Formats: sequence, C-alpha cells, structure tokens
Amino acid sequence: MNEKILLVGDKRICPQVAYVMDWQNYAMVEQLTSTNVAQYRDYKIVVCTFKRKSKNLVKIKTKTLKVIYLDDVCRLLDRPNAGRKVIISQRPRRLLKRLAVKLLNYWRQKHVLRNQWLINHIPSKDLRLSELFLKVLYSPPLNIECNKIENVCHIFYNGDVCGCASGWVEPFGNLKQDNPQKILHSPRARIVKLSSLNRSFCLCNRQLCLNAKYVPQVDSTLKNMLTPEYPTEVIIATDRSCNLRCPSCRKHYYQADVYEQNVIAEMSQKLIADGWLKKPRSVTVAGQGEVFFSKNYRDLLPQIQTNEIHILSNGILFNRDNWALLADRFKTVHAEISLDAATSTTYQKLRGGDFAKVLQNLQFISDLRQAGKINQLQLNFVVQRTNYREMAEFIELGKQFHADGIYFLHLNNWDTFDAATYARQCLIIDHKYLDRDFYEYLQKPIFHDPMVDLKAFAPYLANSAKRYDKKRR
Ligand code: SF4
Repeated sequence: MNEKILLVGDKRICPQVAYVMDWQNYAMVEQLTSTNVAQYRDYKIVVCTFKRKSKNLVKIKTKTLKVIYLDDVCRLLDRPNAGRKVIISQRPRRLLKRLAVKLLNYWRQKHVLRNQWLINHIPSKDLRLSELFLKVLYSPPLNIECNKIENVCHIFYNGDVCGCASGWVEPFGNLKQDNPQKILHSPRARIVKLSSLNRSFCLCNRQLCLNAKYVPQVDSTLKNMLTPEYPTEVIIATDRSCNLRCPSCRKHYYQADVYEQNVIAEMSQKLIADGWLKKPRSVTVAGQGEVFFSKNYRDLLPQIQTNEIHILSNGILFNRDNWALLADRFKTVHAEISLDAATSTTYQKLRGGDFAKVLQNLQFISDLRQAGKINQLQLNFVVQRTNYREMAEFIELGKQFHADGIYFLHLNNWDTFDAATYARQCLIIDHKYLDRDFYEYLQKPIFHDPMVDLKAFAPYLANSAKRYDKKRR
C-alpha cells in the first residue's frame, strides 16, 4: 500500500496493527485534535479502536477525512478468506452448548467477533484471521524470553511451516499449498510472529514448550517490529522414513512410498527455489525420520549451501560413506545423535537397533570431532522409566566419546502410548512433579557436570524440590 497512513491510538496497539497489515509508511499520534489534523489531511486515518466516539479523535469532524476503525482492519484481514466457512471444530456433548456453538458459527460468518472471552475459548486453529489477531493484540505480556518464532522455521511432513516444534505453536501456513517466502510474509505468519514480538506468547502451547526461558519480571515493551526476510534457521522434518522404530516416536516402521516421496520432493523444490537452503544461517536435517536413510533427505543434502548444518541422526548410518555427503562443504557442522540407552539390552528394547554398530559409528564421529571436522557433538537421551537408571552411565559414555553436551529430554506422547502406559513411562506426575525415585536419582553429583543439559526437567525439578525436600525436613 503506497498511501500514507496515520495511526491514531494507544502507543502499544498502533505499531502492532501496522506490523500485521505490513504498513511501513505510517505516522502515529495518540490523539487527533483540531490543531494537528490539518497536517494529516491527505493521510488515510486508522483509528486503532472499535469505538466510533473515540477519545482519540477530539472535536474532529471525520466526514471529510478517510477514517477507518479496527473492525475495518479486521475485515481487511478476513477478506482473502471471504466465503471460507468458519466453524468451531469442537462438538460439545450437551445440546444447549452445541446449539450455542452453531449459532456462534453462523454469526461469525458475517460479523467481526470482538469478545475476548469467546475468542480465548475457541481453539486457535478454528479462529479466523481477525480473531487470531485480536487474541494476540489484547493478550497481556508474559515473563518469557524467547525469539524462536521470529527467526526459526520448522517444516513438517504434513507441510506445516511453524516457528517452533510440532504442536508447540500455531503454524504460519502450509508448504503443500504455498511457497515458503509467501507463507513467511503472509498476514497469518505476521500475527503468529506478533505473539512473540508483543511478548504475549498466547499462541504457544506452554505445557509442551521446553525451550522458553522464564524471567523474574514481565517486560511489557514491544520488541523491535522488524523480522528478517528469510528465517535464520530452517529445520527440515518433511520425511518420516526411518530405519528404526522407537516406541517413543512411532508404532511401526515407516518408509515413504513413491507417491509420498513425490510430495516431499515437491516441497524440497519449493525450498530450493525460494533460497531456503542458501539464505538462512543454518539448516537442520532431520527433525523427523533418519537423515541418511530417507531418499529425500539424501537428495536434499547436496543442495544445502548454508554456512552451518545441524545433523540429527540415530547414528546407525552415520559412517564414512555417508559422511562423504557432508565432508568439507560447511564452515560449521553440529552432530546430534539420539541413543536413549547406555547398554545394549536397553538400546535393543527402546530403539531396536544394533548397539555395537552405533558405538562403532560414534567412535568415527568422535574422531571427526577431535579432528575439528565436526564442531559440536551432542548426545540425546529421551528419559523414561525403562532407561532412567542408565543416565549416569550415559554421561560417562558421552565423556568417553568426547561429546560436548548430553541432552536429556522428557518423554512426549506422540499418540504412540495409551494414557496408562504413558503415565507410567514419563516419570512426571500431574504435569508438575518428577517421580520420587527419579528425583532422588537426579541428586547424584554427576548431574552437575557442565556438559549435562537437564533444562527440559527444570520446572519439574524445582517443584519436586519443594515437595520432597520439605517432606524430608
Ligand atoms: S513454544 Fe516455547 S520455545 Fe516455542 S516459541 Fe513458544 S515460548 Fe518459544
């Protein structure tokens, strides 16, 4: 839009409206009065409130001016989706509630829903753009420090492009339907990014999130409203094909069939065409599946031209032949190897692979690390009841192979466990405390080693300390 825009209203609201609407050429005043109106005669005036008799317009006759309000902005947002059915996918059991949802759906087809309480009770995936925008605009800031959404893009096998891990935050769009750059700069992506820029994080699933840093005080200032043209980090998880079948990840072995491979190849082509394997600072393969097993990932690796690459692998195929796909092509190589066990029996139980082979490859990776060909080596361990007593031994194993870090993650249920099995395996009680034996086990001095990362358990450790240590006293 080339016309000049004047935003009238609250200092916190106006820049957010401008960011979502992608208005760069704008001026801002808190109040438009008879004295300052003359200089804005040729501006389009956007009053950032729903109220027609706003205190932001003092003694102004608006008839001769081009004035729009927040509900008009909402209609502009919804316009590309006009005709799209807006429905709430929840079907409450009670008849009255079901009727109310039906009525609301009908009403939402024609009107801008402004009621914050209703908006907050509709699942984010069922909100139309204007509603999503109002949810973000009016949510209060939280005491969280995180800038992932602004900089990172995960690409999942269903095509979803997200600013964070699967299910942790609302997606920006879908790669099967659009090009990556178009998705990244779409109004929807801007709204999702705004939830981080205004520090509300209201589109994040904070029960799943492991990476947010909690700070003691809420900072209510807006972040710099400039987001990069390309993501700084791209995490590719487009193919689920894997040579293993870990119960924490899937129920069956999976390898993409020809049809699926074509769909994935199409997504890869879009990434290449839009420079997403060249412009970002780093690319990570593979957020899903095994990087050296999937045909699509193997085809993709030679196309990556970034300075930095992160390889996530189960290690079974990380050998000399496959290293040739990466060797001497990147300034920085990070390798993350997921093992989940320190003994052959547990490895067999949890991963179903050959432990001797993985140790042999680990030695190869460790040699590369010591030769400086790999810049960082991290070993991952998904903690569960079956393996938690091997955590200390796993740290020793990491030291033996000169790992830079040992990352312990908690078990998530990606629909692979029934509720009872998951509750027994995950070692976290009521989403709050650690299992008592597990908590006691974590008191060993070895867990204070700087190479150990227990960040995923930090909130549970703090709660458990209050609970168990108090009882002991
Ligand atoms: S889910 Fe957590 S880590 Fe992800 S963007 Fe939100 S706050 Fe950050």
